[in-house]
Amino acid sequence: MIKFLDLKAINAKYKDEIKARIDKVLDSGWYLLGEQNKQFESNFAAYCGAKYCVGCANGLDALRLIIKAYGFGKGDEIIAPANTYIASILAITDNECTPVLVEPDLNTYNINPDLIEAKITDKTKAILVVHLYGQAVKMEKIWALAKKYNLKIIEDSAQAHGAYYNDKRVGNLGDASGFSFYPGKNLGALGDGGAVTTNDEELAQKIRALANYGSHKKYENIYQGLNSRLDEIQAAVLDVKLKYLDNDNARRKEIAQYYLTNIKNSLIKLPQTYSENSHVWHVFAIRVKERERFKRYLDDNDIQTIIHYPIPPHKQECYKELNHLSFKITEQIHNDIISIPISPVMSDDEMRKVVEIINSHK
Ligand SMILES: *Cc1c(COP(=O)(O)O)cnc(C)c1O
Repeated sequence: MIKFLDLKAINAKYKDEIKARIDKVLDSGWYLLGEQNKQFESNFAAYCGAKYCVGCANGLDALRLIIKAYGFGKGDEIIAPANTYIASILAITDNECTPVLVEPDLNTYNINPDLIEAKITDKTKAILVVHLYGQAVKMEKIWALAKKYNLKIIEDSAQAHGAYYNDKRVGNLGDASGFSFYPGKNLGALGDGGAVTTNDEELAQKIRALANYGSHKKYENIYQGLNSRLDEIQAAVLDVKLKYLDNDNARRKEIAQYYLTNIKNSLIKLPQTYSENSHVWHVFAIRVKERERFKRYLDDNDIQTIIHYPIPPHKQECYKELNHLSFKITEQIHNDIISIPISPVMSDDEMRKVVEIINSHK
């Protein structure tokens, strides 16, 4: 069986180092907001090229905290891609803002920057970009729009740790960026974790307080905050794994390149990239006609697949107020898309077998 993602094997590579660091935390007697957070935050900010990093409990919270820190709320509109994981949209509606959805480009799956300006109104406060499946969004036009209309750019970088847009990394492409360290992400913890990166010192400080009951000083609360902290143990694990992230991403790129060059089947549409460094291949998503039949075929040949995602946010039951909307490209992607195995621990043999099996599909 070729697993979609073998988390045990991924973490086994760093097991001794992770265990030693966890031991250190255990013996320190200090489990929240301590040295491990400081060290990881500093290393992760540097990695992204951002000035500040604030750890928090998960990726959804990272995005919720950014929107909350800006003070956006009822009546404010935030532009976001229609084609994304639901957490991007939940962060907006949790702050009582209105998501204004924009169609993606069919071949990169990312938000189509050409369609954004028509959606800007005098209520628009921010553009939330999602670097979906690991590919950085094309930023040029979005930067220009943000400047022209005085909007914040919020990045959802949960799937794209390490991806570049030209010479800058995600996490440093907008005003603030939310990361997830969910175990299956390119940089994954042994449980939940998240972080915000930004170059804005005031915003970083506010988010730090908001994530800790709205408090800078114990028992003095200046904001109505949340409890959303990154555990010391998770920070320690992430700090170990961060050192190997570029290596792991390089292996993902190798496999992706092999797929792009060698998958040849007229029933299948491959994803498009616009530069080698823009994509860190969190998932390798292809489009295929008669997806269920294709999925069954791969199952029968011992290849695990996952669908990212079967239902777009605007068609989810929790968003009844959006259900009437129609986003044809988004819906087409959700109907046709399927993700095939890719991970830093896949072997050459496995990668070749995936291609062979896919090319024989009729
Ligand atoms: C995983 C993910 C999130 C949420 O991260 P959690 O840590 O699971 O809360 C947000 N946005 C996108 C695009 C994601 O893939």
